[in-house]
Amino acid sequence: MLRIIQSMENKYLIPSLDLVEDVFTKSDSPEEARTVRALIEEIRAKKYYLPELELIMVDEEDRILGYAMFSRFHLEGKYEDELLILTPVAVRTEYQRQHISKELIEYGFRKAAELGYKAVLVEGNPKNYNPRGFITSADYGITAAPSVHLPHPACLMVKELEPGALEHISGMVDYAFYDTLREDLSYTKYMKRCYTLAVRAGKKGFDTFGALLVHNGEILEEAENTADWKKGIFGHAEFNLVHKCANRYPDTVLKESTLFTSCAPCERCLCAIASLGIENVVYGVSYEAFSKLTPDDAAPVDREGLLRKLGIHLKLSGPVQEEEGMHVFEWWGGEHRPLEELIAEMAEVKAKSAVRE
Ligand SMILES: [Zn+2]
Repeated sequence: MLRIIQSMENKYLIPSLDLVEDVFTKSDSPEEARTVRALIEEIRAKKYYLPELELIMVDEEDRILGYAMFSRFHLEGKYEDELLILTPVAVRTEYQRQHISKELIEYGFRKAAELGYKAVLVEGNPKNYNPRGFITSADYGITAAPSVHLPHPACLMVKELEPGALEHISGMVDYAFYDTLREDLSYTKYMKRCYTLAVRAGKKGFDTFGALLVHNGEILEEAENTADWKKGIFGHAEFNLVHKCANRYPDTVLKESTLFTSCAPCERCLCAIASLGIENVVYGVSYEAFSKLTPDDAAPVDREGLLRKLGIHLKLSGPVQEEEGMHVFEWWGGEHRPLEELIAEMAEVKAKSAVRE
């Protein structure tokens, strides 16, 4: 099999994104894969992009076997013309362990050195990168900013392309200048909080849903599900949140805010959210995944489109950390039950009703 390494060309722009997304979906999660894809698109669109250093390996049938992106990077605004970051690297799943990433990375080193770059930064598993000559960056005074959560300090590594180059390069690594990652980090933070609220409601014996409203990075209000079983009163988290916000925040603030909710909102809550003038909703668990726990399958409905017909602009984004969000339902009604058990039980109910029909 032929293995040709080359720089990016127009015809490979989309296929390479598809490859990376596919590889990360299999190795990490669909969510992580979407973030990595968005990061590539962002780098391509910005001044950090170096088309010569966006590398692919193709075979004789023009199939992409591997992908590696080197792009310009800076430490606290410095070294942009000397320092590169290697991210992401992806090898077609069935061709892994055949030195494809090794060949791509080493080709990249040579090409980057020719272009005058002095060092390359990478975050990843040292086992994969130490053999390529990457060493712990902290040893050279290149450390992670507080917002960068490394599993271990050794996971941030650097490689000199020119001997001695690292003697004058040091500073803090921060990814906050990538819109993709900044958004992703804050989404994660708020969604985790929604899940905490949902579990808290569950432990009180209620349904496990939580929601909150964020404006300019500040949580304005939080809410959980409530209920009075005897009276037949049920307060959904999103509705309770809307109730807290009504008559309290100006329209301008609500319009700029984002509502985070542990699960895609029901139709009643969607209407309540819209009534408040909130335009951005981010949900954890999707309608589809949630339907695994309900007797009926989720029908695909264009909710945004329907609301638009009424002149209401409401953007629904998600899922976010869906797997974690599904486990929240283990606390439904106060008694902890494993998710697999809940799903299996519902699958049985659905199977029985299908037979009856
Ligand atoms: Zn609801």
